[in-house]
Amino acid sequence: MSHPKYAFQNGKVVPWEDATVHVFSPAAKYGAGVFEGIRGYWNPDKEDMYLFKMEPHLERLMFSQKVMDFETVYDPEYFTKGTLELIRANDIRETVHIRTIVHIEGPGESSARGPVGTAITVVPRPLPKRVTTGCTAQVSSWMRSPDTSTPMRVKCNANYNNGRLAALQATRDGYDTAILLNQKGQVSEGPGMCFFMVRDGVPVTPSVTNDILESVTRKTVLEICEEYFGVKPVERDIDRSELYAAEEAFFCGTGWEICPINSIDKLPVGTGKPGEFTCKLRDTYFRIVKGEVNDHADWRMPVYGGNKAKAAAE
Ligand code: PMP
Repeated sequence: MSHPKYAFQNGKVVPWEDATVHVFSPAAKYGAGVFEGIRGYWNPDKEDMYLFKMEPHLERLMFSQKVMDFETVYDPEYFTKGTLELIRANDIRETVHIRTIVHIEGPGESSARGPVGTAITVVPRPLPKRVTTGCTAQVSSWMRSPDTSTPMRVKCNANYNNGRLAALQATRDGYDTAILLNQKGQVSEGPGMCFFMVRDGVPVTPSVTNDILESVTRKTVLEICEEYFGVKPVERDIDRSELYAAEEAFFCGTGWEICPINSIDKLPVGTGKPGEFTCKLRDTYFRIVKGEVNDHADWRMPVYGGNKAKAAAE
């Protein structure tokens, strides 16, 4: 994988190769870490990058550190400063994926609460093709980990082995990805993204008590549906068989963006092509996150301060 010149570790920008963790650390041995995935969207007209909804992501990172009982908790300000410094040091001028990481270093066992290390990486990642083409999904035979076990509401590294098993099964079986049911047998989410369907013209998504990550993108979709399309989505339990009755379906998340689902368990969703509402929603979402419209400026943090706009004004 090609990578940028620098990463950020324990308060400093460091050469990428030097950002390492010891094999004996609880982070490596037990997955004792929490993280956030955040997007930075490059806007070529404005010659700027916009970090999308930094605050809720970094608030969730604080929540994850609290629940995992880390002895030191790093706040949004620390990670915001570090992220801006890192992107500028790398001088990246394309759409990126940012990872903000907090984990347990040192030689401790699985219950060690410190020493707590931090890291940030930023790598170029263009929008995936599947946001246009759509994807295929398989209802996994792996169940979403329940809140009584390792809560999915916490963005803890180790949780991701649950989604990993489901994603591997799906790709082995010839699908793009998976939909996990929870222990009640209701739809939960994908390996790294939330689920929406449209029934009778109304967007429906599993409620936050269905073992999902309380996704920043999901909340954004709920807001966009009401504000731009005048339709109030419903947050409720979803039965498996409703997946086959849906007119449209899509995933949403930082990495998956808004991704239409064309078929589930090889049964077409609606026409078997990306749905009309899904596409309209996706296009509106991209216009906002890339800063192509002025709406919701508070959702976007500019990295370079709008160089071109500034130059034109001078
Ligand atoms: N569920 C899981 C398990 C995830 O890993 C993600 C990606 N962070 C999501 C949902 C979507 O969350 P967000 O919109 O905050 O990225």
